[in-house]
Amino acid sequence: METLFVKGQHRNSRILVGEPLNLLREHLPGQNVFIITDKNLHRLYCRYIPSFPVYVMDPGEGSKNVNNAKKICKWLMDKGAGRDAFILGVGGGVVCDMTGFVASIFLRGVEFGFVATSLMAQIDAGIGGKNGVNLNGYKNIMGTIRQPAFVMCDTTMLGSLPEEEIKNGLAEAIKHSLISDRKTFDFLKENSGSVLEMDEDVIYKLVNRSVKTKIDIVNKDEIEQGERRKLNLGHTWGHAVEKTDQIPHGQAISIGLVFAAKLSEHLGKLSIAERAEIINLLIKFGLPVKSETSPKTIFKALLKDKKKETDHIHFVLMDGIGNVVVEPIPIADLKAFVKLL
Ligand SMILES: [Zn+2]
Repeated sequence: METLFVKGQHRNSRILVGEPLNLLREHLPGQNVFIITDKNLHRLYCRYIPSFPVYVMDPGEGSKNVNNAKKICKWLMDKGAGRDAFILGVGGGVVCDMTGFVASIFLRGVEFGFVATSLMAQIDAGIGGKNGVNLNGYKNIMGTIRQPAFVMCDTTMLGSLPEEEIKNGLAEAIKHSLISDRKTFDFLKENSGSVLEMDEDVIYKLVNRSVKTKIDIVNKDEIEQGERRKLNLGHTWGHAVEKTDQIPHGQAISIGLVFAAKLSEHLGKLSIAERAEIINLLIKFGLPVKSETSPKTIFKALLKDKKKETDHIHFVLMDGIGNVVVEPIPIADLKAFVKLL
């Protein structure tokens, strides 16, 4: 078990990597705790969760909207939650986002924490204090940046996840390795078999390294003015693919990473061999590397999302494996590149 710290403007956040779920009680106040989770997780974990009032959401990205946030605020009022309330989210990215959002606005903000149950939430979505809900099909349009008191990442919980959900998280783990250092990328490469077998020791190391990468960046730039943009590697193209192909986030990010690798190679920042290494690792982890949709259609969807940047798009490019740079790329150049795909 290792405790890592996110140093936020409002508060510091403790990331408890490898802390077992049965020690949850020690991190919670004795009273006024309110729990948010979803139906699937409630079924799985209700017997491990201390007996406080529980709000059970429908699972899935579709639940992450302002109507549900309103419903939860009303539920908190009905339960008599006051300024001393502590809201605990038990779940993956959607539950963590909703919990953080509600806790940031309810009575102008109350304390909160997460038990991150998915690989994606443990290494990415649950960490860094971004809390948001979607609006009209656009992701995280309404949101806040506020750090949870703690994020519990019990890596042994991941063993019971469906394979698809693990793969989703692995795309973000590969992304983190491409941002942070070659060693972490090699670690994933060398241990890909053990990762897929969910070897507890290897999964713990993977989560630990990935969380450190994310924290390092958030601690340099909590409110995303520069450094934090690096975490968008693979996400510009990936978000467009998520829309056109209607596939899970991690799968779309995998295709986005391939696009970023090809573009980086085209611009002379990545060798052909490095590009192949990245694609091979994604394939090894069972992630898709090609979209069903034509690059032209994806590019159109991308432009629709980026309409505020007029003649260029900020793109995160790989500068070798283990280092990234953010550069503005003229839309005309991108268009020409997309035609080559
Ligand atoms: Zn992501």
